[in-house]
Amino acid sequence: MPPCRFEPVSPRVDRFTPDERTDRPVLGAIRGTAGTLVVDGGASPAHLGAFAAELAAHGRPPVVAIALTHWHWDHSFGSAALDVPVIASEATAAGVAVQAGYAWDEASLRRRAEEGLELAFSVPHLLAEYTESERAALRIVVPQVTFADRHVVDLGDTAVELVLVGGDHADDSVVVWEPSDRVLFLGDALYQCLWGDPEYLTLAGVRGLLDRLARFDPAHALEGHDEEVADADAYAARLAQLRRACDLVEAHGEDALAEAAGDELLAELVGQLVAGERR
Ligand SMILES: [Zn+2]
Repeated sequence: MPPCRFEPVSPRVDRFTPDERTDRPVLGAIRGTAGTLVVDGGASPAHLGAFAAELAAHGRPPVVAIALTHWHWDHSFGSAALDVPVIASEATAAGVAVQAGYAWDEASLRRRAEEGLELAFSVPHLLAEYTESERAALRIVVPQVTFADRHVVDLGDTAVELVLVGGDHADDSVVVWEPSDRVLFLGDALYQCLWGDPEYLTLAGVRGLLDRLARFDPAHALEGHDEEVADADAYAARLAQLRRACDLVEAHGEDALAEAAGDELLAELVGQLVAGERR
């Protein structure tokens, strides 16, 4: 699999593609006359540092801040690579602060996984993303600029909006909206909750997200771990599929799986919703 690649998304937005080998998510960069806002701090300082080097090599304006989409390690642990303020919701800052209080040597990490404080899924990724000495010396930056529900970052000729949308994956999920190119960074907001066996979605969680996302009409939509950038049609189809899965589970309950047979992605969403409603 190729490593993260630098890619322009629109005239004022670039991205760094995700890398599933260590669960590195997509990183974004939005530039205005007042500088560049980076979307997500990345899995490690090496991850964000590599993106920052690409931004500099492409002549982008200096990075003025980092905005986090949620507290999960792969989106927040790399912020120390850049000496700029980190902006996040109050809930995200609280989540990062908890992580900053932990030790990250392998033994501590494995102990927390056994205690259920860490996802088993994340352990091999954290071990591969860092050397043991890098992880032991990890400095996790707790966001210094926080907001409750909504925050605007003025980049001069564009104003980027951060909006708390929540959802099942992480209740602190924030989306980042660049209105002139109509680019929407969704982070992991639309994904399922990983803290369950099986992983799950809930009707209330998905319906609430769909309501809070209704005001955005992106030309380009980026999900945290998707290789592709969705255009307007692909994004509309993604939301329509979530809506259809909710409709099926509301109408048919546990029998909704039979209704979704033949459509693998729809069946997966229905299965996650059925699992969530069973809880
Ligand atoms: Zn996440």
